[in-house]
Amino acid sequence: VTETLGPTRTFDEGLRSGRLIYQRCNACSTSFHRPRLACPSCGSPDFTWLEAAGTGTVYSVTTVERPPPAFRADAPFQVALVDVDEGFRAMGRIVGEPVSIGTSVVFLADQVDEQSVRVAFEAVSS
Ligand SMILES: [Zn+2]
Repeated sequence: VTETLGPTRTFDEGLRSGRLIYQRCNACSTSFHRPRLACPSCGSPDFTWLEAAGTGTVYSVTTVERPPPAFRADAPFQVALVDVDEGFRAMGRIVGEPVSIGTSVVFLADQVDEQSVRVAFEAVSS
């Protein structure tokens, strides 16, 4: 994966192709998800892009009753912080069945419109 586009572009391009990619610091091995130019733990700019399998566990969940105008038609919906198995925490919209803390979920790339894809998760039946 080329780094010349910047971490946010790289992340968005991964998402558009249906992949949840993340960065892992080559200096201290911290994994992080929100695209950054440097490691949030040690500040090193030396990192590797990796692809997550996308499975994880709900760490916290909130029901959004009054979202910003762009998402008002969708309300209410759940937004969860998910502990992804690869060792980072990701925020995403919950699709399908409601979840609670501890629910096993799997990542999916939620196509919002032609331009944008967002991180989403749905419950997996175990
Ligand atoms: Zn680091």
